[in-house]
Amino acid sequence: MRPLAPINGISALTKLFSARKIIPNLLKAVLFDFDGTLASLNVDFIRMRGAVLDLMGDYCTPSDAIGDLYVLEMIEAGRKLISERCPRREGEFFARAHEVISAIETEGAREGTLLPGTEEMLRELRRRHIKTGVVTRNCRAAVVQLFPDIDSRCDAVITREGAARVKPHPDHLLTALGSLDTDPTFAAMVGDHPMDITVGKEVGVYTVGVLTGYSEAGALRQAGADLIIERASDITRYL
Ligand SMILES: [Mg+2]
Repeated sequence: MRPLAPINGISALTKLFSARKIIPNLLKAVLFDFDGTLASLNVDFIRMRGAVLDLMGDYCTPSDAIGDLYVLEMIEAGRKLISERCPRREGEFFARAHEVISAIETEGAREGTLLPGTEEMLRELRRRHIKTGVVTRNCRAAVVQLFPDIDSRCDAVITREGAARVKPHPDHLLTALGSLDTDPTFAAMVGDHPMDITVGKEVGVYTVGVLTGYSEAGALRQAGADLIIERASDITRYL
């Protein structure tokens, strides 16, 4: 509900823009992470990772070397290992693994909810002529399952199918910014995970952490968030 570090009554956002010699009202676009930021998806990551590791067994490849990775990176690493151990079967593994995790995600999305105030906030940003984009590692089917109107409410929706390399690779955010025709200098990234903050900083956008998902304020601050707010729908107060 409040900025964690207001400085003499001036929000950290204003302070940062001053530091960059940019007037706050020149902000042209806001990018949002999805799960934990605009919505709560109820994704069973343990089940997803277990399913991918099980699948590795079908390709005569031990999975112990990849057990610590995030699930998308796990699939990518599995594909590389399989290409060495079971040449020409890595493509089949990749497709099957994505099918399995997308099904689990979409199932979770059926029980998921949009976080309170999300739709009103998107409407308000549009009213102020600020473009909005969603940058998510989730699959499109899960995102649309939970938020059927997302394409009409946001100006760009870049799910994992829409980017050659997903965050934490900067390409994901740059794809969204390209689609919004906005320079990073005039954009912000809002997310619940330290990854959202670090990739935002790498790209050069203003970074905002939210406390509705994965992380506590300390982790977001440590990642270098320019501003930390309770929930994404509060962003309109700082613009
Ligand atoms: Mg998230």
